[in-house]
Amino acid sequence: MTDHVSAGAPPGLPAPAPHGTSALPEGTYDGAVVLVTGGGTGLGKAIAAEFARLGADLVIASRKEERLKAARDELAGLGGRVAAVPCDIRDPDRVAEVFDAAQDAYGLPDVLVNNAAANFPVPAEDMSPNAWRSVVDITLTGTFFMTREFARRHLTAGTPGSVINIGASYAWTGGPGFAHSAAAKAGVHSLVESLAVEWGPYGIQVNGLVPGLMPHEDMTADIRENLDRATTAATAAEGGESDSRRRELSSRQPALRVGAPRELGWAATFLASPYARFITGHTLVVDGANWQRRGLVSPEMVTVREQLGRGPFGR
Ligand code: NAP
Repeated sequence: MTDHVSAGAPPGLPAPAPHGTSALPEGTYDGAVVLVTGGGTGLGKAIAAEFARLGADLVIASRKEERLKAARDELAGLGGRVAAVPCDIRDPDRVAEVFDAAQDAYGLPDVLVNNAAANFPVPAEDMSPNAWRSVVDITLTGTFFMTREFARRHLTAGTPGSVINIGASYAWTGGPGFAHSAAAKAGVHSLVESLAVEWGPYGIQVNGLVPGLMPHEDMTADIRENLDRATTAATAAEGGESDSRRRELSSRQPALRVGAPRELGWAATFLASPYARFITGHTLVVDGANWQRRGLVSPEMVTVREQLGRGPFGR
């Protein structure tokens, strides 16, 4: 159970099943190849791990070779084979090379998880053209290039496949302070709905999967600082992933806890499995209902500049 509950307080959503357990029957992904972009870190690595536990061979792809190699060694301990392929998903030629490498190693991937993305908080008026372009290019355009390559190869081979796009709930709500990422994730969500229809007749499923707040050790300094600012000064001052900081983050969620990365991994293994073959064009949100949260009383408006600790624009 959750550890933050004082006597008489509501308990929040139950804790997840233990780390190392799987959501599906053993061997569900035996003989399958799963390609995860950004699979060397954070949630991508957690998703890859759950596929590996169920027997999949993995291909993980991102830009930084060192991190990929470290993750490959870690994931290889879970059973299946793991290939680490350096790639910048913004470049369609590099994207094609990832699929070539995957096919040479284990065969055409049966499952593609578009997890790679870029993000950092910034007031829209301060955002440089380069910041806008790089977040949209990685998160939206890179996702499209990967998905297009996956579909072209399956259409040519006449084989089915499953795509999972990792999204974010501000695709629907907007993301003040994250205008570039929210716009890109709205595009990613739209791709799910367009491509599921275009490619359903050929046996290709396209679904979305949206994580809630799932802290992990690879979170960038920018995102960590943003979380710290969202908690009390006393808690933030302790830094790191202290118990009190985690409690403070948890108390702000309807679930009264944050999500564990493995909970996203379990959902991904279900969406691409034989048990979900009639589910396509759907986006599953794993966030303890946080994105639907509304208060009876509106909180006082605090500008994005104030939230990020920035002074007045242009002064
Ligand atoms: P993360 O730790 O920042 O990981 C991003 C990954 O993308 C890294 O492995 C990075 O590897 C890779 N990447 C970045 N640019 C790339 C490029 N141009 N080409 C190829 N790979 C690239 O993110 P995360 O927190 O695990 O989040 C994973 C996904 O969940 C993202 O789509 C994110 O938007 C979504 N999400 C996360 C949360 C959360 O609470 N963590 C909440 C909502 C949504 P390299 O640097 O090696 O390229």
